[in-house]
Amino acid sequence: MDDDFKKAAEFHGHICPGLTMGYRVAKYAKEHYPRSEDEELVCIAENSSCSIDAVQALLGCTSGKGNLVLKDNGKQVFTFYSRDKGKALRIYFKGDILKGMDALRKKQAEGLLSSEEKKQMQAMRAGIIDAILNARDDEVLSVREVDIPAPDKARIYPSLICQECGEGFMEILGRTAKGKVLCKDCFEKIVC
Ligand SMILES: [Zn+2]
Ligand SMILES: [Zn+2]
Repeated sequence: MDDDFKKAAEFHGHICPGLTMGYRVAKYAKEHYPRSEDEELVCIAENSSCSIDAVQALLGCTSGKGNLVLKDNGKQVFTFYSRDKGKALRIYFKGDILKGMDALRKKQAEGLLSSEEKKQMQAMRAGIIDAILNARDDEVLSVREVDIPAPDKARIYPSLICQECGEGFMEILGRTAKGKVLCKDCFEKIVC
């Protein structure tokens, strides 16, 4: 297990096939773009699953910094845009690695796994993680350069105080109802 994989696992909290997929993607991107100290590297992730945590841990693209954009298409596609280079790399993690596990996963979700099946599933997961870690780049990753417009930078907006709950919020997300300036949360409670 290399240091980057350990780091990703620590950040994510467990080792799973999804995290391992993200690790392979992030590792590849890391070889082409340096870790993002500030915002120079932006990741547009087309899913919201375990794999994203590897990207956050290894590349410094995080929701907090605003250089991780989630566009949930349910696809293992990650586009890395380098502001320095003005170029983007689109990485698709190929192959339906969980396919053979569908029946077991469904049973697991329903809480119907026998202890024999639990063991079977664990062994399959371990095998899948191993296979992902040991595959060649071209076996699991489909990579190409793409032309995309520069993603918006994180913006700073002034704050307002909600006249209902008294909490501060970002002005651009404000609403008005019944003559009051409201945060989105209070607006939804009052109007909906
Ligand atoms: Zn996970
Ligand atoms: Zn409020």
